[in-house]
Amino acid sequence: MKDTSKHQGLRNQLVKLLEGKGIVDKNVLEAIQKIPRHLFLDSGFEQYAYQDKAFPISAGQTISQPYTVAFQTQLLEVKKGDKVLEIGTGSGYQTAVLCSMGAKVYSIERQLELFKKTSLLLPKLGIRTKHLSFGDGYKGLPDYAPFDSIIVTAGAPTIPKPLMEQLKIGGRLVIPLGKNEQIMTLLIRKNETQFEKHEHGEFRFVPLLEDKN
Ligand code: SAH
Repeated sequence: MKDTSKHQGLRNQLVKLLEGKGIVDKNVLEAIQKIPRHLFLDSGFEQYAYQDKAFPISAGQTISQPYTVAFQTQLLEVKKGDKVLEIGTGSGYQTAVLCSMGAKVYSIERQLELFKKTSLLLPKLGIRTKHLSFGDGYKGLPDYAPFDSIIVTAGAPTIPKPLMEQLKIGGRLVIPLGKNEQIMTLLIRKNETQFEKHEHGEFRFVPLLEDKN
């Protein structure tokens, strides 16, 4: 697994493109500049890694478009040491971006094949997560709650209640909401019972699937 100056050059161009599209969080841009996205795609698809596009990975899933990763991460306002829950580990690219920003990352994936593959890949790349879990993200991770922020990387028909409950007061939940197309939605927890809601435009995700069992 190699990361060359050619890859670095392509990443610099990608970062410029994301800046052009309105990403301003320096920490997000720095993480995208650092993480070798080509190593999260199957070999042979390297040439697609630094285009601003989603791409198929295993089990009929996709690695999110770099702009989407940057946009969601920017909405999270990640600070060093934040405890972050990710629903939909997938390729692990978003996970790696969060780790690179100094977050303590807990992530859940529902496809066994992807869970196994990514659980092996991340340590190989020197990326240390707090906890990778195989299971249903609708339930969150009650044993490790509460979280400073929660990011859902699949399209959800509604906001799973457990995720709202597992958010700290003041915490941020970023979730694409909708069936065919999704509205990027940010919830900020104001107190025990109240959440402030902000909507941030349309995106397209693979669906957040219900438990198989
Ligand atoms: N963050 C990933 C995005 C992968 S696509 C990346 O950057 O590669 C969304 C992922 O959510 C898929 O891997 C899919 O299997 C997973 N997913 C869908 N429903 C889920 C659920 N209920 N719980 C956990 N993961 C789920």
